[in-house]
Amino acid sequence: MGRVADRRAPGRTCVACRTTREKRDLIRVVRTPDGRVLLDAGGRVAGRGAYLCADGSCARIALDKGILSRALRVPLPDDVRGELERRAADDEPIIQGGARGQE
Ligand SMILES: [Zn+2]
Repeated sequence: MGRVADRRAPGRTCVACRTTREKRDLIRVVRTPDGRVLLDAGGRVAGRGAYLCADGSCARIALDKGILSRALRVPLPDDVRGELERRAADDEPIIQGGARGQE
């Protein structure tokens, strides 16, 4: 096996600050194939994803500038907006349930 097999999971770029981070340091917002928009804590929902830093400051920027609706090409639903507002206000990292970092 010549190739390096233990490649790290590739980073994702935050749509607000354009920083590339590990997936677990980001919030994934996904537009599903049937057109719903939701926060995808587990990173498993199929669809078009946009990522935000999990520390809340980028949720604030994204909300203020409408970045997510632009990235996903749909308006941000009120529940997702409300959730991001809460995270922006808390400005705290999100603790996610699944430990999926060891691929
Ligand atoms: Zn960011």
